[in-house]
Amino acid sequence: MLLVKWLKKEAPVINFDYVKPTTEQNALTACKDPLAQFIAGGTNLVDLMKRGVTNPEKLVDITGLPMSNIEQKGDNIFIGSLALNSVVAEHELIKKHLPLLSQALQAGASPQIRNMATVGGNMMQRTRCGYFYDLSMPCNKRTPNSGCGAKEGYNRMHAIFGASDKCIAVHPSDMCVALAALDATVLIANGKLLRRVPFKDFHKLPGSNPEKDNNLLKGELITGVEVPINAAFAQHSLYTKIRDRASYAFALVSVAAALEMNGKTIKDIRLAMGGVAHKPWRLTTAEQFLKSKEATPANFKQAAMLALKDATSYGHNQFKLTLAPNTIVHTLHTLAGI
Ligand SMILES: Cc1cc2nc3c(=O)[nH]c(=O)nc-3n(C[C@H](O)[C@H](O)[C@H](O)COP(=O)(O)OP(=O)(O)OC[C@H]3O[C@@H](n4cnc5c(N)ncnc54)[C@H](O)[C@@H]3O)c2cc1C
Ligand code: SF4
Repeated sequence: MLLVKWLKKEAPVINFDYVKPTTEQNALTACKDPLAQFIAGGTNLVDLMKRGVTNPEKLVDITGLPMSNIEQKGDNIFIGSLALNSVVAEHELIKKHLPLLSQALQAGASPQIRNMATVGGNMMQRTRCGYFYDLSMPCNKRTPNSGCGAKEGYNRMHAIFGASDKCIAVHPSDMCVALAALDATVLIANGKLLRRVPFKDFHKLPGSNPEKDNNLLKGELITGVEVPINAAFAQHSLYTKIRDRASYAFALVSVAAALEMNGKTIKDIRLAMGGVAHKPWRLTTAEQFLKSKEATPANFKQAAMLALKDATSYGHNQFKLTLAPNTIVHTLHTLAGI
C-alpha cells in the first residue's frame, strides 16, 4: 500500500517521441529539434530520464546506423561509435594493438552493462556526482547557477585537478582515460563536414559553464574514434583502477600508462588519470620528466610528485592526494618490472 502510494507520488509519466533512422543524414536531421537527443545503449540516458535529470522530447535511436565496425586503417585502428564496450574489449585488433584500451574497458561497469554500452555513449556519459542525480539538491551542472551541493557536501569521489568554483565533479569513464593516453582522435559528423578533435580536447574542464561536459555541439554525432598504432606501447601498457569494489564501481583513481623502453631508459611514455578531474587527466609534466630517464623507483616517485603539484582536495576526497601518486608509482613499477 505504502509502496503504491510512493510509486503514485514519485513515478512521473515520461512522454517522448521515438524515431529510429537508418542513415546518418536522417539521424542528424531528426536530432535538430532543441529537445531531441541521441540514444545508443541507453545505460546512462534512461537512468537520467527516470530520475528527471534530463527530459528529452524526442529520442533519436542511432543503433540502426552502420557505425559499429572495428578495423585497421593504415597506421590507425578505427573504432565505430556504436561498437559495444564488450566487443571492443575482446576484439583481436584491440587486444593486439591497444591492450591498454582493452584493459580499461574490462575494468568498467559489469559484463551486462558493457554488452549494452557503446563507445560514443561511454564518451558522453554524465558525471556520477550524487548531487547531480538528486533533484532536491543544488547542482550547477544540472541547473546552471543553482549552486554546487558537493563543494561543502560529501565529496569523496570528486576532483583534485582542474575543478572550478562552480563544479568539482569528475568524468566517470575508464575507456576515455586509455583513449586520452593513447592520443586518440574523435570523429564527428554534423551534416556538412567530418570534424576531427584530438581526444584530449574533447572533454572540457567545468570552468564557469559546468553544464557542458565536452566540446560536442548540439546535434553533432560521434561516428568513431581513431587510435594510432604504437607497437612499443602495445608491449608495455597497463591500466590500474582503484575502486571500492572489484566490479560495478567507478574509479576512485585510475592510471593508464604506456612505456617505450630502450634497455633501462624510458624512450617515450604516455600517462593519464581517471577519477581525478572533469576530463581524463593527461600527466604531461610527469611524462616530460620521465622521457630519457632511467626507470628507477626514485624517478617514478619524483614524476608522481610533479604530477600532483597542482592537486587540491575538498575534504572527504583528501585521501586521493596520497592514493593518486601511490597509484602512479605502483603502475610504473609494475610496468617496468622493478
Ligand atoms: C551501474 C553502472 C556502473 C557503471 N560503471 C562504469 C565504470 O566503472 N566505468 C565506466 O567507464 N563506465 C561505467 N558505467 C557507465 C557506462 O559505461 C555508460 O553508461 C555507457 O558507456 C553509456 O553508453 P550507452 O551507449 O548506453 O549510452 P546512452 O545511455 O545511450 O547515451 C549516453 C549519452 O551519450 C549520447 N550519445 C550516445 N551515442 C552518441 C553518439 N554516437 N554521438 C553523440 N552522442 C551520443 C546520448 O545522447 C546520451 O547523452 C556504468 C554504468 C552503470 C549503469
Ligand atoms: S560537483 Fe558539479 S555535478 Fe556535483 S553538485 Fe557540484 S555542480 Fe553539480
